[in-house]
Amino acid sequence: MNHYFPFVNTPLPYDYDALEPFIDEKTMFLHHNRHLQTYIDNLNSLMKENPPYQNWSLEKILYCWSGLPSDIRVSFKNNSGGIYNHRFFFEGMTDKAGLLPSVYFSRLINKNFGCFENFKKCFKKSALSVFGSGYVWLVHCRGKLMITQTANQDTPLDQGECPLLNLDVWEHAYYLKHYNVRAAYIDDWFHVINWDMAERRLQNLF
Ligand code: MN
Repeated sequence: MNHYFPFVNTPLPYDYDALEPFIDEKTMFLHHNRHLQTYIDNLNSLMKENPPYQNWSLEKILYCWSGLPSDIRVSFKNNSGGIYNHRFFFEGMTDKAGLLPSVYFSRLINKNFGCFENFKKCFKKSALSVFGSGYVWLVHCRGKLMITQTANQDTPLDQGECPLLNLDVWEHAYYLKHYNVRAAYIDDWFHVINWDMAERRLQNLF
């Protein structure tokens, strides 16, 4: 993974058609090769124009953007968030469809949400209620698992939360296959969640 300027669009960990029939090949291609690429190109341009920040990692920008000069602050935040959120989303899916949480992770889900079905219900409800463009997240915060939302390309890092999974609910993430039916897209996404990755992200905490 590439965390420093110049940023490059690293390949997905699976083929563009690997998430079929749940997420279609064309959506995955455009999402990775056009949408994510645009955030990468924009952040590289910003850094070219602002050499003092060229040694800032992606994570440093995401944690420290509010200290940047006011004329570039929002552009840095939005474009670095666009890279981080998309990479996080793509890596949080797997072509091993039907993967389930481990026994350890299932226990955590049950402890925090009652049962797996209830976790899915709460996550779906939250994902449906994101107004406009944004993400819904499973995060770890102060010893608990929680479902949160961010608008646009904001990240949960601003809230001091540790993200485990995210679902992109911008319309470009599902419109070609699911049209306006976000609920069907959410149901399909549940089939391709990379639970191993979510657990690895959790274990990096400790
Ligand atoms: Mn997106």
